[in-house]
Amino acid sequence: MNATDLYSIYLRHPQVTTDSRSLPATAPQDGSDCGIFLALKGASFDGNKFAAMALERGCSYAIIDEKEYMVEGDDRYILVDDALLAFKQLAREHRRHFNIPVIGITGTNGKTTTKELLSAVLAKRYHVMHTEGNFNNDVGVPKTLLRLKAGDEIAVVEMGASHPGDIQQLVEYVEPTQGLITNVGRAHLQGFGSFEGVMRTKGELYDWLKAHNAEVFVNEANPHLTKMMEDRQMNRVLSYGQSDEANRYQVTGRVVACNPYVKLQWEYVPEGATGSLQYEVETQLVGTYNADNLLAAIAVGIHNGVAPELINEALADYRPTNDRSELERTADNLLIVDAYNANPSSMAAALDNFSRVTVAEPKMAILGDMRELGEASNEEHQRVVDTLEKLHLTDVWLVGDEFAKTHTTFRKFHNIDEVKAAIAQDKPRGKCILVKGSNGIKLFELPKLL
Ligand code: ATP
Ligand code: MG
Repeated sequence: MNATDLYSIYLRHPQVTTDSRSLPATAPQDGSDCGIFLALKGASFDGNKFAAMALERGCSYAIIDEKEYMVEGDDRYILVDDALLAFKQLAREHRRHFNIPVIGITGTNGKTTTKELLSAVLAKRYHVMHTEGNFNNDVGVPKTLLRLKAGDEIAVVEMGASHPGDIQQLVEYVEPTQGLITNVGRAHLQGFGSFEGVMRTKGELYDWLKAHNAEVFVNEANPHLTKMMEDRQMNRVLSYGQSDEANRYQVTGRVVACNPYVKLQWEYVPEGATGSLQYEVETQLVGTYNADNLLAAIAVGIHNGVAPELINEALADYRPTNDRSELERTADNLLIVDAYNANPSSMAAALDNFSRVTVAEPKMAILGDMRELGEASNEEHQRVVDTLEKLHLTDVWLVGDEFAKTHTTFRKFHNIDEVKAAIAQDKPRGKCILVKGSNGIKLFELPKLL
């Protein structure tokens, strides 16, 4: 069955379920249905096995890719070569029915934060559809696109990558009309092979934007991005970036305070004007690295006609709630919780920020391993330890097997349970504590104990 035929079925049953557990126990009796079941495969599951159950529970069709699960004579089964591919094609058909700006975001760090910030900015003027949470992979992106509905005026789609080619294949379904790469850094080195691999993969977004004459927002203060842009001779570029020099980029900004929330000053020259307009915004974000995310949101907002005052309102109101750059005051300590993920670039940015933050309390860092670094792991963990020493951060707890291998006198813990035991015995008090590590180390369990 081709994508057009699949889409015509979808239009009659506009709901796609990939998890049979989310269906009601029995089929609806009111004549409604549960749409289409799509059999995805994962490392430890095969959706094909649940197709029959999904049909019993009210789905009108089941898209499967294993013949043995077909039931002869039952035309509710649609057999395809690859169910995930069919899902993506369906999503692309759907996306093509919306003649609206679609903003594609990728990058090593700050995708979700930028996506949230710029969705908040755009929501001041438009009805925005944006990626929920972190649904940024080859299942999450089609799911996101299928959420487009009548009345949506603009879309913001996060695209993640951990292997070469990932962005190229996602972007072909998203078909963005505007795009940005937040930054390129050292993450998923295991999958990418090297930093050059990261640059190439993220650059697949620029390649697509250029080939389709789409607009691209570039942080021109970032030499890697500038190089990638120059290598490709990108056109239709809108620049933003941090600089102390006024109007260095189309949108220029600088952090004027981080105690500990980031206060950003920014300016731009409106079209047809000679002088620039200047603004300042007090955010609820910790981490000077968020300045780039904020400037990206401002640049996209300005370009899409959101009034600067409304942009500032959106940015000032944005409060992270997802263990990213969150500030929490407990009875005993002031916490900077950044426990959602960690890789060498975001760790370096977090430590640099932490050393610059002005707070009354003495500083302490509880850091967890950075996962998925392959051969670079030892070197990268040692680099963090060296950075801590350079920044004169002395009160440090390191958690995980990778940090355990580093040469340092900092206190080490093999796992989160050992940290919990240490806190139970001798709880840190009166400190400003940075909590950061890969999700797998589970540092997010600590704030309630601190
Ligand atoms: P993921 O790959 O998990 O989807 P992401 O790119 O969406 O991550 P966020 O979830 O926005 O990134 O942020 C994760 C962490 O990355 C933050 O908590 C922060 O430590 C760091 N970070 C965010 N923005 C930047 C940035 N512009 N530069 C460096 N580090 C950043
Ligand atoms: Mg994300």
